[in-house]
Amino acid sequence: MIETEEIERILKKYKRPKIATCCSHSSLQIFHGARLEGFETLGIVTDKNVKFYGSFPNASPDKLMKVHWFSDIVEKAEELVKNEVILVPHGSFVEYLGKALDDLPVPVFGNRRCLLWERERDRMFEWMKRAGFDTPKVKRRESIDGPCMVKFPGARGGRGYLIVRDKEEFDRKTQNAIKKGFITEEDVKNCMIQEFLIGVRFYPHYFYTPLQKQNYSTKKGSLELMSMDRRIESDVDEIYRAMGIGVVEDPAYVVAGNEPLVMRESLLPKVMEMGVGAVEAAEELFGGIPGPFCIETICDRDLKFRVFEISARIVAGTNLYPNGSQYSAFMFNEEMSTGRRIAREIKLAAKAKRLADVVY
Ligand code: AMP
Repeated sequence: MIETEEIERILKKYKRPKIATCCSHSSLQIFHGARLEGFETLGIVTDKNVKFYGSFPNASPDKLMKVHWFSDIVEKAEELVKNEVILVPHGSFVEYLGKALDDLPVPVFGNRRCLLWERERDRMFEWMKRAGFDTPKVKRRESIDGPCMVKFPGARGGRGYLIVRDKEEFDRKTQNAIKKGFITEEDVKNCMIQEFLIGVRFYPHYFYTPLQKQNYSTKKGSLELMSMDRRIESDVDEIYRAMGIGVVEDPAYVVAGNEPLVMRESLLPKVMEMGVGAVEAAEELFGGIPGPFCIETICDRDLKFRVFEISARIVAGTNLYPNGSQYSAFMFNEEMSTGRRIAREIKLAAKAKRLADVVY
């Protein structure tokens, strides 16, 4: 992992930082928000998407940097620093850059260490446990005794997860998936078998700032509830359509979109306390999580939250709210998306000469 001092050295030379990200995932929201806060923007775009990302008067980046594929960013590091760029990581960014992000000599918004904890499931469970979350039980092949979800290594956007009820079904389905070339023996060795949680899904989007202690305060800063969504996953979320015509197959859980929702207001205090748990555990384990994050939850019939994942950066569900949300309205007197909140944080940190607290 690149030294914090090296990033600080780069940041000190910046006179007028630009906000940059890969053109994908939540980039239009990030550029839109950055523009509203008065930043110049730079979009790293793959050849085939130049036309698309150049065509939004309110959200297209001021400058496009073409790459063949996002992993080519590594070779562009010098040029990015010359452009005084602060990179905003998002889901595709993390997926396509992977470990290369650890050493990338370009300032990244947030604490890039937390992306390492997001990437590895065992570590993520350690973080979730430290946060005090009720997580799904994790089983070994021999102890599968009811519906479980088998997750293979790496971010796959819900692709290829298997549902199994006992060890025989585990063997049969994993062997089948290997034969079809979907997974390898190695993936099976490194899979995680999670208890299948029953209930409704909520994905609250938070923003944590270490710059000020006001409103919903934590030990070292404060927490904001920006918005909330629910993912729409193909094909599980409309499985009744297939069942209606007699198709009974294991559904996939591939994220295809997002929809807005609100939660019973009486549950919101719990949601805020979960956010505080994630923030304070992050501080203990890897130095904190400045910026946006999302806790992926399932709320059961007793209204208890079970947490199965944390996304340690902006999530695509925030794209629902470029003009603010049903929750951000209670905090801000302006239309505040998560993308804009990121730009605002960079602005506030630069003004207070504390960029290094929110950029690494
Ligand atoms: P993930 O890749 O962990 O975000 O999971 C993709 C989707 O699978 C989630 O959005 C949920 O719909 C579903 N899911 C993940 N973990 C569990 C679980 N332990 N129990 C039930 N559903 C789950």
